[in-house]
Formats: sequence, C-alpha cells, structure tokens
Amino acid sequence: MSDDRSAASTGRRGRVTRREALAAIGGAALATPLRPGVDTDSTGTTATDPLPNGPVRIRVYPSFVPLQARLRYGLGELRGNWPPPFRDALAAIESAFEQVIAYARERSRLEDLEVRVDRGAPVLFSLPSIPSSVDSVLPSLEALLERFRERLRERDAPVRRTCHVLLRWAPLNYRVGYGGTVAPNSMTGSDAGDTGAQTVANVGATEFWDSRAVTRNMVIHETLHTFLEDDIVHSVGDTYCDHELGVAVRTADDTLQISPIATAYAGPDRIGGGTRFHGTGCYDHDRFARHDGTEGIENWVYTTELSEATCEAVTRFLEHRFAG
Ligand SMILES: [Zn+2]
Ligand SMILES: [Zn+2]
Repeated sequence: MSDDRSAASTGRRGRVTRREALAAIGGAALATPLRPGVDTDSTGTTATDPLPNGPVRIRVYPSFVPLQARLRYGLGELRGNWPPPFRDALAAIESAFEQVIAYARERSRLEDLEVRVDRGAPVLFSLPSIPSSVDSVLPSLEALLERFRERLRERDAPVRRTCHVLLRWAPLNYRVGYGGTVAPNSMTGSDAGDTGAQTVANVGATEFWDSRAVTRNMVIHETLHTFLEDDIVHSVGDTYCDHELGVAVRTADDTLQISPIATAYAGPDRIGGGTRFHGTGCYDHDRFARHDGTEGIENWVYTTELSEATCEAVTRFLEHRFAG
C-alpha cells in the first residue's frame, strides 16, 4: 500500500558507525573477504512456473548487508546471505502463514490448499559507478521494486500463485521507509503483472531505528498486504483499510501490544509514537479491529500473533483466489 511510505524521517541516531565498529574489533574485519553472492543454502532459481493448482508460494530473497551492519551480529555473521535479522524475518513470515492456515483448518476451510514459504537466491543490485539520478543513489519504492522485477525476469522466477518478498537493508532510505508494494504487482495471484506479486521489507530500517520485534512485524505486514484486497477487507468487520484489521491491546496501564498489520499505524502520528516511522492515513483508531487507545502509553510492544480479523481476511483472499 502506498501509505506505507514513511511520514517522518527526521532525526539522526546512528547506533553503530563504520568508524566505531572497526575500532571495536581492531580493524580485523578489513582483512576478512566478503563474498556477497556466494550462498550455499538458497534454493536457487526455479525455471518452471508452479502448476495452476500447486502451492501458493511466498519466496523470500535476502539482499546485500554491509559489513558494518553485520558486525552488530558478531564476527560469525560476516559471511553468508542470511544474517540473524533476515533469518528471523523468514521465520516470522512462516509463522504468519501457519497461523492463517491453522485458523482456516479449525473451521474446515482451505483444507486442500498448500502454502509454502521458501528461500530465494540473494538479490544483489549493483549501483552505477556514476550516479545519474536521485533514483540510482536513493531509490524510491517504485524504482526499487522495478529493479527487483528485472532480477526476477532474468531468473525466470515463478509468476503464478507467487509473492516475492525482498528483504532490503537501507536504513537511511526514507523514500522506501519500512517498505511496501505497488500496484499492479501488489496482489498475489493477480495476472496484472508479468512477475507475480512483489513486496519490499526494509529490514535495515526496522533494525536500525526500532527493534527486532518491529522487524518481524513489518516483514509480516508488507507480505500480508499482497494477500489482502479492498473488497475482502471491507467485508470483515467495519474495516476501511488493511491496517485496521490489526489490533492494539493494552496489556498494562502503560503498555500497548500491537499486531503485525497494525504495526506503524497504531500509535499517535509523531516521533516516538510506537515505531520510528509512522504510516500516513489510518488515524481513526476506532476503526481498528480493536484499539485500546494511546493515552498514557509508554511501552510499545509487538506480537507476531495475527488478529482474528487478519486471519479471516487472508483466509477469504486465499479462498477467493486459489481454492475452488
Ligand atoms: Zn501497510
Ligand atoms: Zn491503512
């Protein structure tokens, strides 16, 4: 959804600069060769499209993470394409779809549908040596998604019944914000685009500005947008947009616990209101599936547990598009 582009981008609060990180380990990292692109655990490319009745697929792609960022996770994470935040992001997406399927099966729905989350080979963008436009240095969400699509086309990646999720590391790219998806490639199972659905989660931004808990929720959030469409969202409760399917539950007087699709939308629209960046629109908290208010809230906590309204909407979407 386009309203995922960040509303706020002020403030500088870098926790690890290149200089600090290198000083901390005595410069040893400079001697460690890094080879992005060499990956042993990826599933590589799939040349053939899934069968019309095959599983619905969510394919998750890691991208380049700079050395100084990897150092935050320890020397053991200088190699490989799946540093801890990306591994946790993948696991979070898996858990979200497990919840949806469990919800559906308890109600004897989607009994024949298989949903599969798998790892894609890394997507590495090379920057032009002479930047020719602002888009080459600080790509917009649209430009980033277009580059991602080019890679998918080159690989002959599956189109049908597939959502491609790019895990991006760009903490300072306010144009991408936490990520998002753009029509006509924003609906899994739609034949509007030639490359399936694509979405981007800016894991670098949530890790840098927020926390792992926010990373997990925003990755789920940006993926679920491609499994939610307006008609279905409106049909679940009194819901106007995807975000309102989420819940914000007061678990103590000063603590609000927020579900994935409400993350970045449940707080007041200001710096420090929950997440660092706040989505625009969706100010009417009364329309959320449940929102206990932000008055007196000092702790914002996040749960990967999907709200019942979210599970219902995604179940209806899967039924509508893929089952039957
Ligand atoms: Zn959103
Ligand atoms: Zn919204």
